[in-house]
Amino acid sequence: MEFLTSEVVQAVGVVFVAAALVQIVLMLFSNFRRVAFQRAEEHLSLDLLHYRVSAALAQSLEERDRAELSWNGFRKFEIQQKIPEGGGVHSFVLVPHDGKPLPPFLPGQYLTFQLRIPDEPKPVIRCYSLSDSPNHPDYYRVSIKKVPPPPDKPDAPSGLSSTFFNDVLNEGAILDVKAPSGHFFMERNKTTPVVLIGGGIGITPVLSMLNDICETGLLREVWFFLGVRNSAEHVFKEHLEQLARENENVHLHVCYSDPLDGDVEGVDYQHRGWVSVDLFKEVLPANNLDYYLCGPPPMMDSVTTGLREWGVPKESVNFEAFGPATVKKTAAKPDGGDEADSSAPVPKVSFTNSGKTLKWDPSAESLLDFAEANGVVIESGCRAGNCGTCITAIKEGEVAYNIEPGSPPEDGSCLTCIAVPKTDVAIDA
Ligand SMILES: Cc1cc2nc3c(=O)[nH]c(=O)nc-3n(C[C@H](O)[C@H](O)[C@H](O)COP(=O)(O)OP(=O)(O)OC[C@H]3O[C@@H](n4cnc5c(N)ncnc54)[C@H](O)[C@@H]3O)c2cc1C
Repeated sequence: MEFLTSEVVQAVGVVFVAAALVQIVLMLFSNFRRVAFQRAEEHLSLDLLHYRVSAALAQSLEERDRAELSWNGFRKFEIQQKIPEGGGVHSFVLVPHDGKPLPPFLPGQYLTFQLRIPDEPKPVIRCYSLSDSPNHPDYYRVSIKKVPPPPDKPDAPSGLSSTFFNDVLNEGAILDVKAPSGHFFMERNKTTPVVLIGGGIGITPVLSMLNDICETGLLREVWFFLGVRNSAEHVFKEHLEQLARENENVHLHVCYSDPLDGDVEGVDYQHRGWVSVDLFKEVLPANNLDYYLCGPPPMMDSVTTGLREWGVPKESVNFEAFGPATVKKTAAKPDGGDEADSSAPVPKVSFTNSGKTLKWDPSAESLLDFAEANGVVIESGCRAGNCGTCITAIKEGEVAYNIEPGSPPEDGSCLTCIAVPKTDVAIDA
């Protein structure tokens, strides 16, 4: 009996010791895991810190170069290469004629050209987005689509500048170009997921962003939507497919609204129909992403409205129109306020050369639009506040700007394409 009791005591003791040992091993193991996890976390934070420091450094160097290397007015560039990209689009690789270094640009920005087109009485001013990434310091690239006559006027001439580029200009031609500019650009040091949307030739600024993301190798998750009618308009097809094949962070979605007989869904394109927010709801993991879009008016209107209805904050939606604004922004109060004050008196606008004094139309986008709607001619170019063609002297009163001018005019003048009256104004038009 005594023997049995000591056996039991011994066994219980062994169990206790074993349990204690197991507990110690488990504790050691969990401590080890915690330390390993902490180390991994520290490494990650260090990597992130390292990346942020290098990104901030690169950004400040870029800003320095931009300030030092930028130029005023027009600089001569030579067309080094003219490359067909499909869909009636040619890319033009431009190198500076003076051989000096180029300032860096931000993906999404554009160049302004002053073209001397034979038989045109005056130089023609047009803007074209930079279509390659900023990681190539030796050249700039633009991609230009020849604009056909409007469907209701088939006998009208095709677009002046785009026809000149596509049909006349060749390698070796010299062009007058303003420095890169524009407020539509992607922040390069962010790593959060992004949605890029291009409609037709509106692909160019978002392609610059996509190329940049792929070249920096940061694996920033990107959903790229391109909307075209069919394979005849499918610009940069091979390039986009290659990027999607080689970069697992790139999710390519090409939409054909009107496929041709030979166009195969799942091979040539992914979705039949328009680029739409209903499609985003199907393929995006969430709505809280950054959006950059550029395309024709109906696409811009429906996508921006749809995103707003889907609850995407307006700060996350960035867009650019090629020409007169196609997306009506919330009516801006001059100089930064949010909503227009409907009780404020409506100013009067006098066009002194034309002898017209009219009540301002608050739904007009700009003094230029208002002038044109009332038969007053003002020369214009980019209609985006950069090229300076529409500069007009202010004889009386004050104006405000809807967007910050690319190059602010002299005191006493205004850029009518982005200006609205702040008080009664008289302008020299
Ligand atoms: C910031 C910005 C970036 C841009 N980026 C790009 C880009 O990357 N790629 C690109 O291709 N474009 C881009 N654009 C658009 C570009 O600047 C031009 O607006 C476009 O090339 C058309 O210019 P155009 O001189 O060829 O046409 P325009 O001569 O201005 O003609 C426009 C239209 O009017 C029609 N027309 C001409 N004469 C008549 C007439 N008598 N009666 C009726 N209709 C007539 C033409 O057939 C054409 O359809 C951009 C624009 C902006 C503002």
